[in-house]
Amino acid sequence: MKLGDLEFHIVSDGRVWLDGGAMFGVVPKPLWEKKAPPDARNRVELAMNCLLILAGGKCILVETGAGGKHDAKFRDIYALSGPRLTNSLREYGVRPENVDIVINTHLHFDHCGGNTAVENGKVVPTFPNARYIVQKGEFDHAGQPTERDRASYFPDNYVPLDAAGKLTLIEGDHLIAPGVELIRVPGHTADMQCVKLTGGGKSAFFFADLVPMTPHLALPWIMAYDLFPLTTLENKKKWIPLVARNEWIALLVHDAAVPAAYIRERNGRWETEPVKVD
Ligand SMILES: [Zn+2]
Repeated sequence: MKLGDLEFHIVSDGRVWLDGGAMFGVVPKPLWEKKAPPDARNRVELAMNCLLILAGGKCILVETGAGGKHDAKFRDIYALSGPRLTNSLREYGVRPENVDIVINTHLHFDHCGGNTAVENGKVVPTFPNARYIVQKGEFDHAGQPTERDRASYFPDNYVPLDAAGKLTLIEGDHLIAPGVELIRVPGHTADMQCVKLTGGGKSAFFFADLVPMTPHLALPWIMAYDLFPLTTLENKKKWIPLVARNEWIALLVHDAAVPAAYIRERNGRWETEPVKVD
């Protein structure tokens, strides 16, 4: 997909299965199970859609999925499967050393697990020449998560980057390459960031966990994982209409069937109209 001089692709780090109740918050199961059928352990399937962006001569990656550092028990709990991000990148001729910038929207393991990899028993940056960009507030929180969210944070996904001097911490909104804008959008965490791509008069918006899957377009469908659900609600009311009315391409991090779509209003509801990106 091209937006003027900017080019982007959706690259996968496979699938993860999370508890359906946690994914849909206060929404009763009889409603959500129609949209996302659970398995015998009440888990629903999520994609881990990452973005490969070529802009201003830079090779940029948004999110790195769950990565490959997990033991058998963890892989079983989350039913991790599918392609690894580095293999998906290879299909576009991109090797780990070619990546200039990695953006993590936040530091939950299913968004930044592929930041690092184990090499000769040591945790090292997966993308050796990249600088990794995270909101400072998110990084600070990841160092001291609460009892409620610490299961999502694994220091091996970001502490080795800090130690190697590869981490760039930002505060608030930043343009990091031509047409690539990071926008702080709190709710899921206090300092999550979304990514807006612009070129040739067109835009795309990576919602991260503000709207992880199509069903979350409905305003009350907010994940139980969110630390500030009412802030998520406010930001959904702000960003969904903006993306819909301006015909920006919505990019949905966890939707396996609809990773990219236009958002349309039909009978007072937001719906997705899939867009083919690759
Ligand atoms: Zn998250």
